This record gives sequence, structure tokens and C-alpha cells, in this order.
Amino acid sequence: MPTKPHVVVIGAGCFGGWTAWSLLRAGARVSLLDAWGPGNSRATSGGETRIIRGIYGPNSPYTEMTARALPLWRKYEKEWKRPMLTRTGVLWMASSGEDSFERGSIQMLRRAKLKFDELPARELKKRWPQINFDGVQWGIFEHDAGYLFARIICQLVVEKFISEGGEYRQVAVRPEELESGSWKALALEDGSTLAGDRYVFACGPWMGKLFPKTIGDRIRPTKQDVFFFGVPSAESHLDDRHLPIWAEHRDRFRYGIPGNQGRGFKIADDTRGPTFDPTNGERVVNPDGLRAMREYLALRFPAMKDAPLVETRVCQYEQTPDNHFIVDRHPVAENVWLLGGGSGHGFKHGPVVGEMMTELVLKEKEPKPYFRLARFPQPAKALTTHSVAAQSKAHPRMASW
Ligand SMILES: Cc1cc2nc3c(=O)[nH]c(=O)nc-3n(C[C@H](O)[C@H](O)[C@H](O)COP(=O)(O)OP(=O)(O)OC[C@H]3O[C@@H](n4cnc5c(N)ncnc54)[C@H](O)[C@@H]3O)c2cc1C
Repeated sequence: MPTKPHVVVIGAGCFGGWTAWSLLRAGARVSLLDAWGPGNSRATSGGETRIIRGIYGPNSPYTEMTARALPLWRKYEKEWKRPMLTRTGVLWMASSGEDSFERGSIQMLRRAKLKFDELPARELKKRWPQINFDGVQWGIFEHDAGYLFARIICQLVVEKFISEGGEYRQVAVRPEELESGSWKALALEDGSTLAGDRYVFACGPWMGKLFPKTIGDRIRPTKQDVFFFGVPSAESHLDDRHLPIWAEHRDRFRYGIPGNQGRGFKIADDTRGPTFDPTNGERVVNPDGLRAMREYLALRFPAMKDAPLVETRVCQYEQTPDNHFIVDRHPVAENVWLLGGGSGHGFKHGPVVGEMMTELVLKEKEPKPYFRLARFPQPAKALTTHSVAAQSKAHPRMASW
């Protein structure tokens, strides 16, 4: 490899942006390309906020990754003098008999030295009288957790990347021939070509389309509806000054971010939706989902009964069959790295992913086995609606975000 290798990163979302910037800081020459811009409305990193939390259930490597990510977010916040992380804590509401996810997380939090409280129902009621804790037996409060400004961060990372000498272009890479691995340069939508020594494809939910044989249905874009409701008044104690981020498994996995910057009380259902086309899909929420959200809100946050819907968003998860990221070389092109499959929980790990990719690409290290393509016993297939439905059943208790 040349002493200053030229790495081309395709996709300026959370994974690609942090990767490009970290490679640049490590001394590479880096070109970063994105079809619609960092944090655009189609991208999985688009939108206002993403949660950072350490609870991931038993035996998950992502708790340790969060413990590594938290100080990095703080470090860059200081270095760049721009707010990125709002620390609200995350409250997990648990019911006995259905709490293996929370119980299994406690040991992991301890091991990762992430600060938390285990709280009985009476303490929950005392601390957060705005919440109706009916059916909740206990909870965990994660102190250092909070939310990240998603789109703003993606744009900031690219801004930093450019200011430190990186080359950024808003242009799409043409998908034809990519899978063959035998191309000598990328063909771009504007008719030009771009050659590098190494390539990192970080195209989120588009990865399966760009690499139909290697990725295909191993990364499935699933439609996820997000709702924002208006809080009754500034004194209602339902914004992020008074309430933490919260999550509950119960019959379905629901979570919420209480009104950042006056945007309303954000709430979403983590259940995987139908297959979604990230390029042409119309971003309109499902009315049944809205009805179900209203019912849930009225139960858990009584002051939010009849609250008006002030905003909606449709995003897509980039779901792998086992919820692990995909980080590996293309099987026939040693200098092509595939990075994606954040599976609805990747954003918080951006700076750690950047560090990891720098080691892999520049120092030619090997990815962890749970990230590698070899973990999939079956060859990749084209996406179908049926396969997505089967997958969401297989992971009923998966906490993505
Ligand atoms: C509703 C929702 C809630 C979530 N909540 C959380 C959360 O709370 N916490 C958390 O950690 N994670 C969360 N996630 C997941 C997280 O947002 C993703 O895992 C992460 O943002 C994925 O980033 P990415 O860079 O891989 O993909 P993307 O952000 O999709 O970036 C891919 C980029 O590639 C570009 N691109 C595509 N094709 C081409 C091409 N041919 N040429 C050039 N560029 C191309 C696109 O324009 C895009 O900008 C959530 C996701 C959703 C949808």
C-alpha cells in the first residue's frame, strides 16, 4: 500500500462520515461521496435525534461499544465546540416475567462501568409522577445515556472532514458492475470516474441494491414510523428537562424522547415494519400505528391523552438477520470494504465505527467474527416482503435504537 493511500468512502451517513474523517486524521488521502448529502431525509441517519444507551440485553458486544463511544462523543463535542449529545438518562420500564432483556443487561452495564440505578416501582412513581407505572414492577435508569443530534452531527462531521483537507462530492456512485469486483474505478452519475487504492461502501439501506449477491437481503430496509405529539404546556413536565428518554417492552417495544428543542414528544414502535424502498418510498405514516400510539400515550403518560400530533417521520432500519453490523471485505475484491447493517442501532457507535474502520483499512486488521459475512450460512437473496415479516417475528424483543 502507498504511504499515503487514497481511500474513497461512499456514503456520508453516520458510518461513512465518521469513517472518512477518522481515515483522514490517521493520514490517508480521503474522498467522500454521497448521493443526496450527509443526513439527508432518505438516509437512515436523517432526522433530529438518535439515542445512545448501554443496555443491549445479555452478552451483547454493543454495551462495551457504547462505553467506548460515550467519551468519544464528549471529546469531539469539546474539540469542535458544538453540542452533539444531550444527557437525559434512559429509563427502562420492566414487568416481571418479561424482563430477561433488562435483567440480562445489568451484568453487562457493570462490566462496562456504565452508571445505572435499579429502581423498584415505588421509587419510579416518586421520581417521575408524570408517568403512570401500572403493570411496571421495576426499572433501570442509565445515567450517562441521552440523545444525539442526528442530521446535524452528520453534517458537522463532513464539515470537519472538509476543513481538515478531505475531498467531498455530492454525487451518486453507479451500481452497475460493483458486485463483479473487477472494476478499476467507480463510475459516477455525472459521467466521471474516480479511482482509489481502497474503497469503503457505507450506503446504509442501499447496500443490498449495490451488492445484490454479497449483501442482498442481508440488509433489509424496513419502514419505521415516528410520531411527535405536542405537550400540553411548558409546565407539564413532559419535556427533556423533566423526563428522561424511556423504553418499555410490554407487548411491543416502544420508546420515546421527550421533546428536544420544543419539537414535541417523540414516540416510536421498534417492531420491524414492511420492506421499504429508501429511494422512492413515500414517507407517510400508517394510521393504525397512529391510533395505537395514542392509546399507549393515554395509558403511560395520562397528561398526553388527546395531545395533538405535531409532526411525523418515516425512516427505515437497515436490518440484518442477527442485528449485528456487517463489516467485511468484498469476497472478490480485497480492497473493497462493506460497512452497514446498523440494524436500527448504529448511530451511537459512529465514532467507534470510524476508529475500527481506520484500523481495518489502513492496518489491514481483521474484523470481529460477528461482523463478518461468513457468519451467514445461506447465500444472500433478493428482498421480499415475506422475509422481512418473518424476521421481525424472529426478534420480538430486539431493542434496535
Ligand atoms: C427511526 C429510526 C430510529 C433510530 N434510532 C436509533 C437510535 O436511537 N440510536 C442509534 O444508535 N441508532 C438508531 N437508528 C439507527 C441509525 O440511525 C443507523 O444505524 C445509522 O444512522 C446508519 O447509518 P449509515 O451511515 O450506515 O446509513 P445512512 O445514514 O443511510 O447513510 C448512507 C448514505 O449513503 C448514501 N448513498 C446511498 N447510495 C449511494 C450511492 N449509490 N452513491 C453515493 N451515496 C449513496 C445515502 O445518501 C446516505 O447518505 C435509528 C434508525 C431509524 C430509522
